[in-house]
Amino acid sequence: MNKDSTLTCEILITSDLHGHLGPIDYRTGEKRQKGLATIASLIKQERSHCQELILLDNGDLIQGTPLAYYAATQYSDELNPGIALLNELKYDAAIVGNHEFNFGKPLLNKAIQDSKFPWLSAGL
Ligand SMILES: [Zn+2]
Repeated sequence: MNKDSTLTCEILITSDLHGHLGPIDYRTGEKRQKGLATIASLIKQERSHCQELILLDNGDLIQGTPLAYYAATQYSDELNPGIALLNELKYDAAIVGNHEFNFGKPLLNKAIQDSKFPWLSAGL
């Protein structure tokens, strides 16, 4: 790139997903336009026209819904579904939210180890 070139970069941030991964209301089971699955469509749309896109999660990912609770308490040795989705969507980094500690440091450490992106210790 020469000095007259301009680089435009988009930054997309998700925050406080709290285990809302699928496009459903976890209390009723009804389909809803919410959750990371719905956001994934928007992320893919942005990626299609922006090559320099930075994708971040601002914390509070692995705690909140019954799905998150079930994954953390019954399948703690498995890949956390929130981490699986962030890996699949090729997040560039995630930030540790206060609720990442709800199920203890071993679960958080496993989530970090299973991530294909770095974790940061500063909130946005
Ligand atoms: Zn939160």
